[in-house]
Amino acid sequence: MLLFPYPTKDLARIEVQRDPVCARMREAEQSALIDGAWGFGRVAGRTWLPAGEASAAAWEVAVQEVGARVRHDDRGLAAWGGFVGEYDPSTATIVLHEGALRQWEEETGIDRTAARRIALAHEFFHHLDCSGRVLPWSSVRMPDRRLTRLIPSRGRPRGVLEACAHGFASIALDPGEAG
Ligand SMILES: [Zn+2]
Repeated sequence: MLLFPYPTKDLARIEVQRDPVCARMREAEQSALIDGAWGFGRVAGRTWLPAGEASAAAWEVAVQEVGARVRHDDRGLAAWGGFVGEYDPSTATIVLHEGALRQWEEETGIDRTAARRIALAHEFFHHLDCSGRVLPWSSVRMPDRRLTRLIPSRGRPRGVLEACAHGFASIALDPGEAG
């Protein structure tokens, strides 16, 4: 799910630091994990997202080509607790909350087309992860072996996936090679 504001590395940091599994790590380990997750998302975004000024239709085609579908809903931010998009892995469906995106545009000044791209890109990452097309757990370095042992019993730390998704979605705004 995507909560505004923009997909920045600071937002990725917050996601990792508030994850209960990652919160027990040392600061240097958290930083390594944040860098790894953010970088993994950026590289994956350059691989999977339509380049440049591709149309909204081209974006939806890119999503459909990997087996997901996009549904639009008109309810606002309040109805979704601040979320502008979500992904349902049981049906491989990305839902974009158009009413929420409208409010996001009003509150942040971001162009709604750009906001929709960010939301679609974020949920697209969750689809790629859930369908095994990207493999963050074999690519993002887990610096603490104790944490690695914890993961199978506790599930994959959600905050790391969200940090990856923010890195991925950041390509929708800034495809540059830096960061
Ligand atoms: Zn998410």
